[in-house]
Amino acid sequence: MTHLNGSVGLHGRNRRNDVAMVQTALLASGHSPGPIDGLCGRHTISAIISVQRQLLGKPDGLVEVHGPTWRWLTAHAGRSHQQPSQSGSRSSPASPLRRPVPPETPSNERAIRPLPSRTLNYTDHVPLPKKGSVNVGIRPASNQAIIAQLGQPRDSYSQQCQPPTNAALKRMVVTGDVGPFRATGLRPAVLSLTAIFAEVRKTHPDLHAKLGTAGMMCCRYVRGSTRSISNHAWGTAIDMKIDGILVPRKAHYANLGLQLLAPIFNKHGWYWGAAFSTRDPHHFECGADLLETFHA
Ligand SMILES: [Zn+2]
Repeated sequence: MTHLNGSVGLHGRNRRNDVAMVQTALLASGHSPGPIDGLCGRHTISAIISVQRQLLGKPDGLVEVHGPTWRWLTAHAGRSHQQPSQSGSRSSPASPLRRPVPPETPSNERAIRPLPSRTLNYTDHVPLPKKGSVNVGIRPASNQAIIAQLGQPRDSYSQQCQPPTNAALKRMVVTGDVGPFRATGLRPAVLSLTAIFAEVRKTHPDLHAKLGTAGMMCCRYVRGSTRSISNHAWGTAIDMKIDGILVPRKAHYANLGLQLLAPIFNKHGWYWGAAFSTRDPHHFECGADLLETFHA
């Protein structure tokens, strides 16, 4: 296995050669670390986390010298190198992954250096998701579909939040403790959130403790529109705050907390608004298939 001299990634030692090796391996295994420049920035950390998401219960953004992330990367990148389409060779330092494999030497690093307590900064900015990397198989629900399913929440809308007036819909609106906070929305959506946040608590307890919301139920038009009704009007969408921070609509970035939440929301049939043509990284809403199971 190719040898790293120090850890790479979030709070890592990030020696330039090591970072370049990790970037090369990330690229060769199909991830996007940004330019292979030996500098560990947010693209590199985000790519490390995306590898770790498939690998570890709790991604920490750090590639340890003898840790599972580096083992996976070297194994995986080595295999990909044999494929002709690999682009790993456009990297800088004389393709370190093809060096002869040095004998594995046990490291005292862990033993002599107490493991620092690394807490991720969930408000760190990360790039918006690449097309097709999130919301796989999940369609957002159109106004038409959701009206056919649940009716109009009220007769008129504006840009301001107003209460629903549809009696059947009102009977389905509940306020409940969903784990990190209380939320008001359509009963099955609130129940679904409870399951989502239970899963977040299990896989990312530190993140769970930092979750907040900017609201769920709110009958209004989509911001800036006079025709499209926001899915918040049915109480089937929620706006998420991470550590008190609301990533603004139309932002060119998400943050680590939202990025870690997305696959869990997706698993439960919710669509992440970061992929809307008008980006809405803090917004999650029940996808069309999930909504079809809701009845007023
Ligand atoms: Zn929203």
